[in-house]
Amino acid sequence: MNASVHGIHHVTAIAGDPQENLNFYAGVMGMRLVKKSVNQDAPDTYHLFYADAAGTPGTDLTFFPWPEMGPARQGTGLAVEVPFAVPRGSLAYWQERLAQRHVTVSPVETRFGEQVLPFTDPHGLALALVETDDERPFVPWADGPVPPVCQLRGMHAVRLWERHLETTEALLTQVMGFKHLGAEEGWRRYGVEGGTSGKLVEVKALPDERRGQWGTGGVHHVAWRVHDTGEQMALRDAILQVGLRPTERIDRFWFESVYFKEPGGTLFELATDGPGFARDEDAAHLGERLILPPWLESHRAGIETALPPLALPQPNP
Ligand code: ZN
Repeated sequence: MNASVHGIHHVTAIAGDPQENLNFYAGVMGMRLVKKSVNQDAPDTYHLFYADAAGTPGTDLTFFPWPEMGPARQGTGLAVEVPFAVPRGSLAYWQERLAQRHVTVSPVETRFGEQVLPFTDPHGLALALVETDDERPFVPWADGPVPPVCQLRGMHAVRLWERHLETTEALLTQVMGFKHLGAEEGWRRYGVEGGTSGKLVEVKALPDERRGQWGTGGVHHVAWRVHDTGEQMALRDAILQVGLRPTERIDRFWFESVYFKEPGGTLFELATDGPGFARDEDAAHLGERLILPPWLESHRAGIETALPPLALPQPNP
């Protein structure tokens, strides 16, 4: 059997001020801060992980807050929007909630038969809420500011802009296990395992568009789920065989990672489902203190001094 990814594991984006980022994702969007850590490759900056109550793979949007970085340049070779799944019938709640908190939203659109509310976060990241009944693993956050019946169910898809469609499509369909599901208004939709919620990627070819660039409000990479390192290594081999250049396996402590650029330039990651975020914290107290992987623990004092203070927003039901 060919190897395949199983949908989105997490998406990592670049934010501006970390407190503004926390206020928006925990306070407005009602996601749980499941891990407050540092960028393992640049430990003087935070790495903030927002997800459902348990940090279930597929619900996790993470940020490197780099306020000193310029804004992202929208363009090809980047993920340009992160759509979340929300329960059917909840868009009216979300429109009101976002309006009350002065978040500008676009009109509701129909995409592939689904109702979609597009908007941007305070630092310019394009988001959308997509109403769907698709079943997915999800643990409600009982103490969150959003009623569980309306809480975000995790990532619905990612949207990529590419200069050329063919090479990215070949990778998705011949190596990563995606199937082409349909096309609409220039977007081609692909899904794995039948293409249910969280297992979708939508790609638009824009041959004349300039190349995108990382910056605040932009997606840094998209991580795809693999069950274990065996599956990860099989996929890594397949990616090598088509001439791409995956990294060695990197231990991220909460999961194991392999990174590679897809042919259009978007940074992808293959991330294992385990061990998970409860590895080093009580599941009841995720995100409350700064967590460092063991190899950075001896530098804790210096790391904490260099980081700006960060306070969880007060509940605002
Ligand atoms: Zn990642």
